Amino acid sequence: MLRSHAAGTLRLDHAGESVTISGWVHRRRDHGGLIFVDLRDASGLVQVVFHPEDAPAAFEVASEVRSEYVLQVEGDVVARQPGTENPDLDTGAIEVAARSADILNAARTPPFPINQETNVDEATRLRYRYLDLRRERMAANLVLRHRVVAFMRRFLNDKGFLEVETPVLGLATPEGARDYLVPSRVHPGDFYALPQSPQQWKQLLMVAGVERYFQIARCYRDEDLRADRQPEFTQLDLEMSFVDEDDILGLTEELYSGLAAEVAPQLATPSPFVRMTYAESMERYGSDKPDLRFGIEISDLTEIVRDSEFMVFRRAIEAGGRVRGFAVPGGADTPRRGADALEALAKESGAGGLVWIVYEEDGSVRSPVARFFDEAALSALAEACGASPGDMLLIVADQDAVSSRVLDVLMRRVAEDRDLADPNVLSFAFITEFPMFEWDAQGQRWSAMHHLFTAPFDEDADLIESDPGAARSRAYDLVCNGQEIGSGSIRIHRRELLSRVLQRLNLDEAEAQERFGHMLEAFTYGAPPHGGIAPGLDRTVALFAGERDIREVIAFPKTKSATDPLTGAPASVRDDQMAEVHIALTPEARAAQAERAPEARDVITNDV
Ligand code: ASP
Repeated sequence: MLRSHAAGTLRLDHAGESVTISGWVHRRRDHGGLIFVDLRDASGLVQVVFHPEDAPAAFEVASEVRSEYVLQVEGDVVARQPGTENPDLDTGAIEVAARSADILNAARTPPFPINQETNVDEATRLRYRYLDLRRERMAANLVLRHRVVAFMRRFLNDKGFLEVETPVLGLATPEGARDYLVPSRVHPGDFYALPQSPQQWKQLLMVAGVERYFQIARCYRDEDLRADRQPEFTQLDLEMSFVDEDDILGLTEELYSGLAAEVAPQLATPSPFVRMTYAESMERYGSDKPDLRFGIEISDLTEIVRDSEFMVFRRAIEAGGRVRGFAVPGGADTPRRGADALEALAKESGAGGLVWIVYEEDGSVRSPVARFFDEAALSALAEACGASPGDMLLIVADQDAVSSRVLDVLMRRVAEDRDLADPNVLSFAFITEFPMFEWDAQGQRWSAMHHLFTAPFDEDADLIESDPGAARSRAYDLVCNGQEIGSGSIRIHRRELLSRVLQRLNLDEAEAQERFGHMLEAFTYGAPPHGGIAPGLDRTVALFAGERDIREVIAFPKTKSATDPLTGAPASVRDDQMAEVHIALTPEARAAQAERAPEARDVITNDV
């Protein structure tokens, strides 16, 4: 028997029992004559004490072990001496007095300490991910992820959802992100694409009469990576028939409130979740993923300054723009340098400039533009933004698209600098009524803002042809603390409407038929009205774990350049393997391959 108990489960109740435990040497302390080993397994850790007189052979073994050796110990659970209990440890009331010990496996010195949360560079962590995952924080994140998924499955099962797997090898789509392609061996020259999401499959399942579908689905997008992006990531994908927005949002809210209560009860989750339209969110926060914890909102100041002498404002207004701004609580303490830095940030984000006005506690006003405004105007500006003495206004005059973007960036910066976001709050919101289309200036064409299966509001359908930029869609996002957690929509379920959207997206008849013919056809066989949503699982877990980077909640993530330092993927393959799938490298690819630096795995030395 390798063990009778899991190390972390031993309690005072076990005192007097003889136990066998197995695990890793977390820490070893030599106390002149006595050796203490914290033995760790998946359940936690327990202190083992080795007495040279009582168990000389076991003591010998304990003298030999090093960190991360795998050790089996047989011994007796004893209550710790009064005063030596460790209240921080679940097993802190007891220890195991070893009678015998066996080394099950030795371990090299790990490249970074397992028993401390030290900062280790990412390449090394990923190269030795199996060691990184032994560390407390990462092990806890894996457990949390499991609990989130287990909750989702239980919740949706109770609501009558069916979990259905959909193909990973599929058809490339012209819309959306870049596809990962898989060459076909049996069909020379043809490729599968890995799914960017199971969108079409889940809609086909609705046509198939499933009515309530979900899947913990892996999605693949060949995009440039950021903190919240991975080339492969996971969604809780779901779809329902005979529903409207309220059904989907209501279910999502119930799911996320339940999840928060179960896995993050220490966080406050205000409910009901805020709901606002895209237009309102852009107006009040300059963003479609506002962080409602800041307590800051944008105000329209145009009317107050319309007749001012300040030419920058007048010109912006004459050009059809507006003057908008917000109050930074306590911002009067911003030094000149700080204000200059904010202006630089505004310009980087596309603004021509930034106007700031400080309202000092003593009632005086400090601003480079103060002389252009009389006292009445200055107080009207403060009042419009809800500013009190001690605050600072940040104002941008431009077209809405620019001022929204800039004010959003500024708001996030001052909130970060001033710790305005309470880390103990999860502030969920639904943003609804997104535009159907956005103008792609590069491609000189319209593209779908969510995706092309998203339905317009009935009353906006004719705008698809007459004024696409004004058409509102039945798409919605779940956002939390300034991040998009997931998107969804009520779908198009009629062939004719889908054809009109495809036309608007400049897909000619032939291409529409080639790429979406199966959907157009399926819709002619009695497709029910349906809709769904797909919250990102990685982002969801990161949120509950308080992690900023989704890689902290993925067991084996990729680096920012989409590599896996552990296995060395991606890597070259033999010429005959390529020939089998009818692939030949270009001379450029060959040259790049030859030039490539030796792989990170060979560079990192093991004996740090
Ligand atoms: N498939 C969509 C996405 O990945 C989500 C949805 O519309 O349900 O964003």
